[in-house]
Amino acid sequence: MILFDYQFKQALPIIDKIEEAGFEAYFVGGSVRDTLLNKPINDVDIATSAKPNEIKGIFPKTIDVGIEHGTVMVLWKDASYEITTFRTESTYQDFRRPDNVEFVRSLKEDLKRRDFTINALAMNRNGEIIDYFNGKKDLENKLIKAVGIPEERFFEDALRMMRGVRFVSQLNFSMDSETEVAIHKNHPLLEKIAVERIQVEFIKLLLGSGRKQGLGLFIRTNLFYYCPGLKDFKKELEEFAKLDCVIENRVVAWTLLSHYLRKTSGNIELFLRDWKCSKKEINQVKSAMNALQHRLKGDFNRQVLYQTGLQIALDVETVMDCLGYPINFEFVHTLYQELPIYSKNDIDVNGNDLQVVLKRKPGKWLGDLMAEIEVTILSGELPNEKSVIIEWVSNNYTNDV
Ligand code: ATP
Ligand code: MG
Repeated sequence: MILFDYQFKQALPIIDKIEEAGFEAYFVGGSVRDTLLNKPINDVDIATSAKPNEIKGIFPKTIDVGIEHGTVMVLWKDASYEITTFRTESTYQDFRRPDNVEFVRSLKEDLKRRDFTINALAMNRNGEIIDYFNGKKDLENKLIKAVGIPEERFFEDALRMMRGVRFVSQLNFSMDSETEVAIHKNHPLLEKIAVERIQVEFIKLLLGSGRKQGLGLFIRTNLFYYCPGLKDFKKELEEFAKLDCVIENRVVAWTLLSHYLRKTSGNIELFLRDWKCSKKEINQVKSAMNALQHRLKGDFNRQVLYQTGLQIALDVETVMDCLGYPINFEFVHTLYQELPIYSKNDIDVNGNDLQVVLKRKPGKWLGDLMAEIEVTILSGELPNEKSVIIEWVSNNYTNDV
């Protein structure tokens, strides 16, 4: 019997209400798995025999989040719960998630279409586990094993192969040998899957504590072959897979990977765009890669730290640590605190001031001069004080610069 986590307790009235209306409802998926592993749970998913319209009839506040897949979101006491009708996925096209689902009234049928045995567990409102596919045993043996015949399952949805290696890394599990063989055999099916979906799993793989095993499997099964920009880099990936450190966040993950793949500032953008990373993330990783090049040659200096920003600079220290170089977070913090300015806006003069002093109309010179003032303040040669900057400008520049 499970000691209910707070999130489960909060959701119990939902299960009760569905049952009172004459249907079945269970906790399913990741939350049940993680509870049995004594891990904190993310989101509580509920599966039910009630059809979406029946759920909408039971609860006053619902949102149609994916009604065609049988999912309704129920809003209940400041929280929201995804409630999905038991379903089978009958028509699979192109090895992708099916467009059509068929609602069924049997829990077992629903659990059968789930990816791995450890994800095919259900829990009722009393904390009793329903385990049709030996998921509990596989949890104990730390095994990722497909439900049913692995090859069939990967034909239905090829993303499951990536999910498998992701769970190996995330949970520090091994992969069942039959499941691994089926991935190896069918790895080209991954080509059919949208990069966005692959990326979600790949990042979770990189951030997992069992990354070494996960990446080893990712390489061994040739899944890397059908991931953007990795096909020709088996050796580099193998080197990357030897790293022992835990990767803390996405920027560190992409930066380390880019470093091992020897990406330059020129081609890193394309690489990350192919992976469908956001513009913001691409800029963060580019900035981290630039800083890393400096950092590999010596300590951070004010200029580089100013351009990089504190957060990314700390990420770069983490990357250095992973790579086995000596690091100093304290130094980065102190150097950052001592920066005279943190952005152009902090400079004590503005474009108007400069136009007045030099009696010139705005033009390209203005941006150039501001950039020079910025660099000179950062170098410590010029204090960030309006009167001093104005004097420095009048001494160094005539009005025909
Ligand atoms: P996480 O903790 O990362 O959220 P999770 O197991 O909850 O892991 P989700 O993507 O949230 O993963 O999916 C919830 C559940 O839905 C899974 O546990 C699994 O039962 C099922 N599932 C998700 N994706 C698939 C898939 N591609 N094929 C089959 N079943 C899937
Ligand atoms: Mg989940």
